[in-house]
Amino acid sequence: MRFDLLIKGGVTIDDAGGLSGRHDVAISKGRIAAVEPGIPADAAFQIVDATDLYVTPGLIDMHTHVYHGATFWGIEPDPVGSRTGVTTWIDVGSAGALTLEGLRKFIIERAEVRISAFLNISYIGLTGYDFELVNLAYCDTRLFEIVASRNRDILHGVKVRMGATTVGPNGLEPLRRAIEVAERCDYPVMVHIAVPPPDIREILPLLREGDIITHCFTGNGMKLIDDVGQPLEQTLRAIDRGVILDIGHGAGSFTFNTAEAALAAGIKPHAISSDIHQISIAGPMFDLPTCISKFLAIGVRLNEALAMATAAPARLLGLEDRGTLRPGALADIALFSLERGDYPLYDIANEVRTGRELLVNQLTLIGGRPMRRQPLPQRTEWFEPWGTAGRDVSIIEFQKELVRRGHSPDAMARPRRFAGLDGHGH
Ligand SMILES: [Zn+2]
Repeated sequence: MRFDLLIKGGVTIDDAGGLSGRHDVAISKGRIAAVEPGIPADAAFQIVDATDLYVTPGLIDMHTHVYHGATFWGIEPDPVGSRTGVTTWIDVGSAGALTLEGLRKFIIERAEVRISAFLNISYIGLTGYDFELVNLAYCDTRLFEIVASRNRDILHGVKVRMGATTVGPNGLEPLRRAIEVAERCDYPVMVHIAVPPPDIREILPLLREGDIITHCFTGNGMKLIDDVGQPLEQTLRAIDRGVILDIGHGAGSFTFNTAEAALAAGIKPHAISSDIHQISIAGPMFDLPTCISKFLAIGVRLNEALAMATAAPARLLGLEDRGTLRPGALADIALFSLERGDYPLYDIANEVRTGRELLVNQLTLIGGRPMRRQPLPQRTEWFEPWGTAGRDVSIIEFQKELVRRGHSPDAMARPRRFAGLDGHGH
């Protein structure tokens, strides 16, 4: 036997690797060994039948919150990974300098999926719902540098949230400090944009080549386009300078109106990410394949949308061993069906677009091992009674209404192909 596992009969999508087409995918020792048409079945110990399915690199979600049990936002990544094809999870800012050790020991080291992080400029990270930058003493640049220098193996950059309630009276100062440590650590900054102040026109000029704006298609006050849908001058200059645009759909940060205006103006996101967390997991975000389906609904091609959740984040984050099906890469692989029908897809403003295609994960492999499909995690116990401390209760009602109307990914898709497949043994 030459291979441990062979994915046979599917259509691969890996434009960046030049491997899109009708190919079988062979896996050996946790890595991709061959991608060719017609690899004989007797060359492998285990066969996965991918007839009528797309075979893609495991998705890389560059905006997630997985520090469950220790922060307001965190969800458990493994069950979601097993149902969505997301094999690499970038936790952005759940941990700060004081709490990164817990993220490593209790989450990253125990997870089946691969996790790395952006470290929050606030040393308490996203322990609470908000306000982590109201107290500037939490933005300790010296502590950040000490902790970051000892944890470079799990870090990609600096996370900072810009929003009126998050920064309080401190305006741009937390962003300035984030950029200051980013310069010293040679990291990009990922900036979350929300409700002003500060003004987005003051934020954008501070960003450097390689820095990332997440929530780039927000409909909130910091949006990158003006009220008639034209990109701000500062937006165009930032893009020219090499600033990166990331979706980060979340519970309040993606509207079709902004997305369609931006795309019409020639502004494309570099990366599609979910911003999955305790609130957004219950819809209308739900998960990364659903986010990708929303882009299909507004005219982005399947191959291009998938590249924004595989090859692009891999390149942006320097993850050279994934995001592609090229032989030698980690055998993190996702199998999807593309369901056809009329699917009502909602944004966070309750606007709907009809998707003709729904991307549905059928199987997820990590390091060549099929994941066992797991039930979705329950919300944290305090979530329903406490919600978001009195704000945003409307979204919880909206989520219940979506589920009542059958507009969840599970309700819309036909049953998965590999529901009974045992992933724990070759
Ligand atoms: Zn987030």
